[in-house]
Amino acid sequence: MKITFKGAAKTVTGSKHIVQLWDNQRIMLDCGMYQGRGKETHALNSEAIIDPNTISAILLSHAHIDHSGLIPKFVKDGFEGPIFCTEATYALCQIMLRDSAYIQEADVKYSNKRNKRGEKEAYLPLYTHDDAIKALEQFVIVKENEWTSIIAGIRAKFIPNGHILGSAAIYLDIDEISEKHTLLYTGDIGRYNATLMKDPERPPQADYIICESTYGDRLHDHTIDAEQELLNTVLHTLKDKKGKLIIPAFSLGRTQEIVFALNKLDVHGLLPDVRIYVDSPLAIDATDIMRKYSNLLSREVKRFTKGSRNDPFGFKKLFYVKEQKYSKRINDINEPCIIISASGMADAGRVKHHIFHAIEKAKNTILFVGYAEPNSLAGRLQNKDEKVTIYGEEKNVKAEIRYIKSLSAHADYKEMIRYLSSNNSGAVKRIFLVHGEDEVAQNFQLHLTENGYHNVIIPDKNWTFTT
Ligand SMILES: [Zn+2]
Repeated sequence: MKITFKGAAKTVTGSKHIVQLWDNQRIMLDCGMYQGRGKETHALNSEAIIDPNTISAILLSHAHIDHSGLIPKFVKDGFEGPIFCTEATYALCQIMLRDSAYIQEADVKYSNKRNKRGEKEAYLPLYTHDDAIKALEQFVIVKENEWTSIIAGIRAKFIPNGHILGSAAIYLDIDEISEKHTLLYTGDIGRYNATLMKDPERPPQADYIICESTYGDRLHDHTIDAEQELLNTVLHTLKDKKGKLIIPAFSLGRTQEIVFALNKLDVHGLLPDVRIYVDSPLAIDATDIMRKYSNLLSREVKRFTKGSRNDPFGFKKLFYVKEQKYSKRINDINEPCIIISASGMADAGRVKHHIFHAIEKAKNTILFVGYAEPNSLAGRLQNKDEKVTIYGEEKNVKAEIRYIKSLSAHADYKEMIRYLSSNNSGAVKRIFLVHGEDEVAQNFQLHLTENGYHNVIIPDKNWTFTT
């Protein structure tokens, strides 16, 4: 067996790993897009990954674009095989991949308009809406925790891992006639006692583990502290400063988590009397899917919906904004309000407009609640850059920048070690750390070694491991 790391190697986005058998059959684990890496991003995503005709199947861990976003391009380039994932992941991909195509077509239009004098070659979108629709036809739904035959010699189990709706670790049973292996791909590992998602399920013993390492150097605070911090920021911005609170958040997962947290605060009468806008059509669609699959959500959500409110994602002060004309109107509002909008890295989407309008006023606060690539607008603001360029205009950063780290959908290093603890460390032959910045992965490597896991490798992009 060979494993080649084609993305998310010493970085967080662009997850894609290829498993090859002795007879040259290959499958791909995730087919994710690079995000938030500035000018590099488009070039990285345009690179050919591998000849699509040499891949028999894709196994998809979850719907986030950094894991699923290049599937339509791969299909456009000639991939004709099945794409296996859980039912909720498929439902979410229906909206995520269409939206991703839409963003690319819009971005390309914008860039080409700016280059219209022909100084530069015209950009082409990585894929179109039609490519996304075509790719969705190749999806095959699997049942969680049941064996699915993938190709001759490989069967897989999708084991829920608590990261987002539908997300799963992928456990492979590989039979190469002369050798047998088990391989666990953790996907993105969720948190224990999270507010929205159930705990990650214990993965079975594996010979090889491809493990994420996003927060391999960090310990999160308790979620309850995060909710207190959210409330403090709300009160400080809206009551003390009379400003706007802008929360850049991923449409899928983080937005619903923030909405649920605000809903709980409101039940307890703790929120000031202001309007809260969720300004993201994608978040609205994702919220509907979360409502549809609410049986997959945490006990806390179930308890909440049995109480005074039956919708975890809806209450009187909350307004979902679908149309663009209303989104623009929010920019003109002078009263204190909360705006939750995508994308989380603030490099694209409506939140970029909101930041553009709010950033030069000290009364406003921009609150980050998730991971950001260091080169993205969110990354630069978190890095306390005093000036940032948005839409080609230099802006002085006067707004207050805050960050709640513990609202993450990713496990911290102790939680990841807890997750891996179902595996006897002595029986694991190799752990490959992906989906983490190099330094962070190195920290996690140390933590793993301290906990008895040896042979922990941080692969370079395109590096191949052979059994
Ligand atoms: Zn993810």
